[in-house]
Amino acid sequence: MKQTVVARYNYRAQFGEAFQELFEKIGNMLLEGDYVLTAEVDQFEEEYATFLGRKFAIGVNSGTDALILSLLATGVGRGDEVITAANTFYATVAAICFVGATPVLVDPNESDYLINIDALKALVSPRTRAVIPVHLFGKAMDLQALRSWCDERGIWLIEDAAQAHGATISGKTAGTQGHISCFSFHPSKNLAAAGDAGAITLDDEKLSQRLRILRMLGQERQNEHVAIGLNSKLDAIQAAVLRWKLPYLEAWNKSRKNIAYRYRLCLQDMPVTFQDSEFDKGHVYHLFQVRTSQRDSLLNHLQARGIDATIRYPTPIHLQPAFQSFGWKKGDYPTAEILANECLCLPIRPDMTEEEIGCVVNGVRTFYGA
Ligand SMILES: *Cc1c(COP(=O)(O)O)cnc(C)c1O
Repeated sequence: MKQTVVARYNYRAQFGEAFQELFEKIGNMLLEGDYVLTAEVDQFEEEYATFLGRKFAIGVNSGTDALILSLLATGVGRGDEVITAANTFYATVAAICFVGATPVLVDPNESDYLINIDALKALVSPRTRAVIPVHLFGKAMDLQALRSWCDERGIWLIEDAAQAHGATISGKTAGTQGHISCFSFHPSKNLAAAGDAGAITLDDEKLSQRLRILRMLGQERQNEHVAIGLNSKLDAIQAAVLRWKLPYLEAWNKSRKNIAYRYRLCLQDMPVTFQDSEFDKGHVYHLFQVRTSQRDSLLNHLQARGIDATIRYPTPIHLQPAFQSFGWKKGDYPTAEILANECLCLPIRPDMTEEEIGCVVNGVRTFYGA
């Protein structure tokens, strides 16, 4: 790529004008040794739970760990099957494998790129212990009916909301509908820590206590290890960064939505399609996907103009070498393959200027000679 004209991330912009205030606080934390499960972590957990409208949030080391801990806490493991989306990010499936369970994949809808709920239900077996729908690219799913369906069968509904902080659909918020919900604050996400971080959200108090034990070396209190857990605590410094940014999140999501609306409007006469034919007001556009059969040449065209477009994800789960042992092969999940071959992500940042938005729009339009 030539020199970047439209970047994918701008971390400086996320800290605002008064960033020195945060830096001073972090400086003091460093000097005082306020690193591990301090009040800062408690406060972030409370604020994040309140933001979502959930009883509990538990800060952990990453979104991947949030998924692993959720599966451990619900007792999902060897011999169990867990159903998830064939076009998700690697981590959803790796977490299932990590606890010894078997991932079962569902091809997405071609319309909105989300898991096909009817196909999911058709894959249930006596071994199914959990399902993990993923609010992919920032588009929330309404999981009310699926939750009842799971409750009737004693199946855990675990949401992967790693791309959907604040996303809503018909009055429901991503990360509040499952028995347990998992978030990532990886620097690429809509709410970004300064490194790895994640959270689990839920309403069940007993399960939340179990999760607190599991994230801290299985300790109920110091030196009393009652379970085989991970060491996966949200760092206090990351909590400070996240607390600093959380008040901006809603405005950022709104801004992403406005940019997405502009992209859709300005590209509607181009031979490209988008995630869902309707504009979804609850979508938080973690990624803005454009679908075209000329994906690779469009990507090259944009990158040659300094537009940091990218592909999420070029190789679907079932064709990743890590999952070879499951015997999946090309053709098994045709829609996931089509999306992997035909989608690219246009840069979308809350702080994008008019000039940058115009540059991206022109980039696509000139590719098609418009
Ligand atoms: C980012 C992401 C994860 C993993 O989160 P990390 O914090 O990077 O471990 C899991 N699932 C999805 C859908 C993600 O986008």
